[in-house]
Amino acid sequence: MRSMMKTAILSLIAIFVIVPTALADNSVSRIDGGSRYAVAANVAKKGWGTASTVVLVGKTAYADATAGIPLAYQKNGPVLYTNSKSLSGDTKKALTSLKTKTVIVLGSTSSVSNNVVNQVKKMGISTQRISGKNRYELSANIAKKMKKPAGVVVVEGSFYAHGIAIAPVAAQKGFPILYTDKKGLRSEIASVAKASNVKQTIVVGGENYVTKAAYNQLKSPTRIKGSTRYDVAANIVKKYNMSVNNTYVGRGFGYATSSSAAGIAAKQNKALLLTNEKTLPKVTRATVSSKKITKFTVVGSTNTVTPTVVNQLKNPAVGKKVFIDPGHGAHDSGAVGYGLYEKNLNLDVAKRLNTKLNNAGALVTMSRTSDTFDSLQTRVSKGASANADIFISVHANSNDNSSANGTETYYDKTYAAANSLKLAQNIQPKMVSALGTRDRGVKTAGFYVIKYSKMPSVLLETGFVSSPVDSNILKSATYKDRLASGISSGVSGYFR
Ligand SMILES: [Zn+2]
Repeated sequence: MRSMMKTAILSLIAIFVIVPTALADNSVSRIDGGSRYAVAANVAKKGWGTASTVVLVGKTAYADATAGIPLAYQKNGPVLYTNSKSLSGDTKKALTSLKTKTVIVLGSTSSVSNNVVNQVKKMGISTQRISGKNRYELSANIAKKMKKPAGVVVVEGSFYAHGIAIAPVAAQKGFPILYTDKKGLRSEIASVAKASNVKQTIVVGGENYVTKAAYNQLKSPTRIKGSTRYDVAANIVKKYNMSVNNTYVGRGFGYATSSSAAGIAAKQNKALLLTNEKTLPKVTRATVSSKKITKFTVVGSTNTVTPTVVNQLKNPAVGKKVFIDPGHGAHDSGAVGYGLYEKNLNLDVAKRLNTKLNNAGALVTMSRTSDTFDSLQTRVSKGASANADIFISVHANSNDNSSANGTETYYDKTYAAANSLKLAQNIQPKMVSALGTRDRGVKTAGFYVIKYSKMPSVLLETGFVSSPVDSNILKSATYKDRLASGISSGVSGYFR
């Protein structure tokens, strides 16, 4: 009895300890909300629970909200949004549940009206307002309410994504976020930016945002830039080596929700990445893979960060570099049978696979995308220069005997033998169940492209074009699509 108990307990431990680490997708949670007010309130609940001081901004005051993050961080409170004319219901509820004593209002009365301030006061909460004649002056005035900083952040005041992306770093370092414009260094921020206590400056954005002339006036400046807002956010995560164990993900063009994401990322000392609402940008994918991020919190509703993006984040193939080599091409038609040319079939399947893998979040390179010919060595070289994590060569089989049929996967033991086998074992059963063909299994063979590719590599023989049974299946768009889905899910399985 006792030993049975022990066994039972041990197997319970095994279930809890081994299963989640071994075969799990990446984990993604969401901080939701039906409006920007609700999202900010839910972020506050999750990140702070209670907060005696809260920073309050108007509905579209993204610049104010972002500049408010380092100040809110020092007060150990969140930034909440409100409707400008009347205190939003979700915001009011949040102030109550946070047990807030003081609200710091940012901006003018057109951004947060006196009516809102009176509504807050009626809740027994004291208020103060930090304003400025424009966003530049406001950013300087916010800085003056912070502890004397050892450095400052300077960003262009209308490109909100830059300020949002750097906000967690700024808050952590105690640096205020100061706004300038595209013409040069704004006079409103000059004295704060050049104060004697300031020893270093982080500039975010290229010279078309913060000019070279402005940059040269700043103290020990470092510039972080990128070709898109997604690149900038990724470069910030890399440069400051931020904790990625539960990386926050906000929508690059959703400033209210992504500024809320930046606030909680600051509070928890976590990285913040930005995404397109519909698909994960390539640079974001690559960062997820290079930083080995497996846990995320997306901020905003399913309209803000869609389930497609969440599924990409969850997929263990996210950001993995997959090289697809459609066999043969041009003068080399490969096997021919029942009206099928292998070169065309391979390309068709490869293109479908490209789409599936791309939808899954992988980064795909193909050796050819049209009816062209590459030597086997060129295919190997292209895979190597793509720095691919895995190499998949797509082929179809042929035999003089038309009764030969079925699907098989080859690997070679020269390089990455164990992982090549693992890849083959993940893909083969998925192809078979997708096509309903005979399972010819996983085999070894020294085919050139898999022998000389140094990364884990496989060569797929999807079916026999010489078989009346297989060729019918391989002519069907439905089956080719299923096949591509099957291979794609095999790839995910390999990285899981
Ligand atoms: Zn072939």
